[in-house]
Amino acid sequence: MSFVSKAFPEQLVPPGEIEARYPERGLLDGALVTRVGPSPTGMMHIGTLYVGLLNSLLAHQSGGSAILRIEDTDKLREVDGASNFIAESLKSFGIDFDEGPFDTLGNLGEYGPYIQSQRKEIYHSFAKFLLESGKAYLCFATTEELEQIREKQGQSSARTGYYGEWAIWREKPAEAVADALNVGLPWVLRLRSEGKHVRKIAFTDDIFGKREMAENDHDIVILKSDGVPTYHFAHVVDDHLMRTTHVIRGDEWLASVPMHLQIFEAFGWRAPRYAHVAPINKVEGVSRRKLSKRRDPEASVRFFEEQGFPKNAILEYLLSLADSGFEQWRMDNPTTSLFEFPLSLESFQAGGGPIFDFDKLDHVSKEYVSQLTAVEVFDLGVGWATKHDTELAARLSEDPDYARAALSIERGGEQARKDIRKWSDLRSEIGYFFDDWFDLTEDKISEQLSFIELAEINKLAQDFLKSFDLNDERTEWFSKMKNVAVKHGFAARPRDFKRNPEAYKGSVAHAAQIFRVLLTGESTSPDLFSVMQVMGLDRIQRRLSIGLSS
Ligand code: GLU
Repeated sequence: MSFVSKAFPEQLVPPGEIEARYPERGLLDGALVTRVGPSPTGMMHIGTLYVGLLNSLLAHQSGGSAILRIEDTDKLREVDGASNFIAESLKSFGIDFDEGPFDTLGNLGEYGPYIQSQRKEIYHSFAKFLLESGKAYLCFATTEELEQIREKQGQSSARTGYYGEWAIWREKPAEAVADALNVGLPWVLRLRSEGKHVRKIAFTDDIFGKREMAENDHDIVILKSDGVPTYHFAHVVDDHLMRTTHVIRGDEWLASVPMHLQIFEAFGWRAPRYAHVAPINKVEGVSRRKLSKRRDPEASVRFFEEQGFPKNAILEYLLSLADSGFEQWRMDNPTTSLFEFPLSLESFQAGGGPIFDFDKLDHVSKEYVSQLTAVEVFDLGVGWATKHDTELAARLSEDPDYARAALSIERGGEQARKDIRKWSDLRSEIGYFFDDWFDLTEDKISEQLSFIELAEINKLAQDFLKSFDLNDERTEWFSKMKNVAVKHGFAARPRDFKRNPEAYKGSVAHAAQIFRVLLTGESTSPDLFSVMQVMGLDRIQRRLSIGLSS
């Protein structure tokens, strides 16, 4: 038995037959087949969402296909159920994948399986082919031997790594390999690199442009000692068989491109195009760094979800980070779905990486919510609150029409209210509409209306109630308020009060402010007339009568 079949004793489908199962896709010119390859480590990283969104949009806008592939070759980092969680999470954001391992839908697509741990035979078949053709070899070097190599390299100031003359198993005769296999020594499979460090390889990255990098001369591991492929090898085999046209991934992989192109070449396959996206950064002191899963809570998508940022607002923010043209497009197309934004790799910035900016996210989110209808805000708000704030959910749902009416004030149009950034803001922004949450004490009144005594406030309010009619139009309502105010010593026009402040208790604006505080407990609110229309007569009477009993 040759050492090749000893190393791969299992029955393997030959590469040619596997190839035939994954034919060319026959897509139209210019259609992109993209993929995102998250590792199931138990959290949804904001970077996965970011790159997932970009891949999905670019594929779909070109009439191509987007693949979700779970890259679980590192079993130590894997968390149970994480693959499903990532697939579901991307779906919950409305990010569409045509192919992938979706639990609820089953595996979608003809180019699977889409979980790397289910593709072991495929990797082995191609790995065996490389071994047979001499393009890869078995390496039995022990940890101690590798350590010694490193030490010697250190002493002679040579580059570290397993390459050239340092690669002690590269030129071993077949008998030595067979002997090592026979005694059952553990091995890894290494690529027999043909690269020369002094030579350059040129390639074009769709974001970074033309690059020249040193060729890879390291005999990199392609199968680990447990038979699991390394990322480098697995992604090449997968992207070839899945007929990926564009590998759009984090730029931490840019340095590995020479290695990856080399593996494609060893098989004689055409490499896909590469586009390396700068990761999202954060500023720390004077320096910037990539968002860290361990150190930064905002690296996790859950962090934003828990606070109640609308999913679409998070996506809009991510698009604004990726493509400098997004904000202008949004202004020109305020109501178009974000998924219709014509994303262009050409507008991406190479390297550096955008800084995550919370103020900007707030801004994008406010703009987004301001474009929603009251029904949408209600539905999305209740959906969020049901999971994260059950009291708010109950409050909104006890009288849905009332809650929707409160939300409909100043909604839609140019002057839409922009007070809600995230669903948790609903408590503070419309909480006062609900009697259980409305808690206005005399102390609070005196604090907010320090220019006037409580007794005077009561007199003004009672007088106003006498003429108040919920059916009045806005102008009628206002003139009644003005008349009452004037009767109680307020100036009809702000400038009269300004000129002669001693002569008045304030202006009509001050009087309106008194009603606002009594009705909402707040010194700012949306349009007071609309607020009163929604609150209804009963509630208005109750609230304007505060303090009467004392
Ligand atoms: N599994 C790789 C990662 O998590 C994916 C890189 C790629 O998209 O090729 O970084």
